[in-house]
Amino acid sequence: MRFTTPPRPLDVTALSHRLAPLARTATRLHPRPGSPTAHDSSIGGPLLWPADEPWPYCAGPHPQEEADGVPHSPEDIRELRRVHAMAEARLLRDHHAPARLPEEQAFYERYAAGRPWCEGPVPLLPVAQLYARDVPLPARPAGTDLLQALWCPYGHGASEPRTALFWRSAATVTDVLDAPPEPTVVEEDGYLPRPCVLAPEEITEYPGLRQLDQETQAELADESRWQAAGARWDEDGALDPHEYWSGRLSTAPGWKTGGWTTWDLTDPEPRPCPACGTEQIPLLTIASSEWDDATEGWRPAEDPAHDRPDDPSEPTLVDIRGGYTLQLHVCPASPDHPHLQIME
Ligand SMILES: [Zn+2]
Ligand SMILES: [Zn+2]
Repeated sequence: MRFTTPPRPLDVTALSHRLAPLARTATRLHPRPGSPTAHDSSIGGPLLWPADEPWPYCAGPHPQEEADGVPHSPEDIRELRRVHAMAEARLLRDHHAPARLPEEQAFYERYAAGRPWCEGPVPLLPVAQLYARDVPLPARPAGTDLLQALWCPYGHGASEPRTALFWRSAATVTDVLDAPPEPTVVEEDGYLPRPCVLAPEEITEYPGLRQLDQETQAELADESRWQAAGARWDEDGALDPHEYWSGRLSTAPGWKTGGWTTWDLTDPEPRPCPACGTEQIPLLTIASSEWDDATEGWRPAEDPAHDRPDDPSEPTLVDIRGGYTLQLHVCPASPDHPHLQIME
């Protein structure tokens, strides 16, 4: 399967010549539910992990006081997703069918009770595995061709999951760990990615509005420049050219590598490497959705519009604190330096 981002409605350099040098390539991953193996690029799939290498754990702390609701086991969350899918399929076949069968009701009641909290060391969960043959990986260390991203499925006191990155050469992994440990519970269902296969696609991005200088922002707001470019900004319900820029022309929504940092929650700020001070660059964006109402112009041509039961805009079922992204940045000077994560 391929997914194709529709061409942007205009060449943005026609609005301002200052934008031309700011073009950057990003690679949209286009995750879709599937059954990846350890030899595939994936979200939430099995990792090519050496059998003789210890699995990574998070030592915490994992304070229960700040958690919302009760934790669930990965098995329970998978069962919940299966029950949801069966109910949806049943209702699609016959809209008079019961929304819940008696055994499903019993499962929902068990599920609502949750499972005991776990404070102890927690095995990390696979989040993404990206082979360089499939996905360009910015700042990839020499001699490696595989990136593995994992996280601790706890919010660490109302912040966000803590991520860990591993770079490998796939050829050096001969004996693959076949049953990695799993956390007994995760703090939020949205911290358990649904396994997805990927269909990467390169696209061009420009900085978000607040990362542009004042002159460029003024040029983008200038109606006469849009007219001269033969372009309209008043599509898709945008209230002004800046809103159109944000939703349609700057950074792509969804899971991706490279590109520009998306600043939604906070103003842009420097991301100096904690080890050497070099400005870190975007490596991997972990997203709660592939698009929403404001960014539906990035919906791939192959995908149906949302509001269907099989809405493809949330393929991984990852949810970062109610719809945010977690953007992992790396040091271009050295792969040994710690990465930064930004929630936006
Ligand atoms: Zn943790
Ligand atoms: Zn550094």
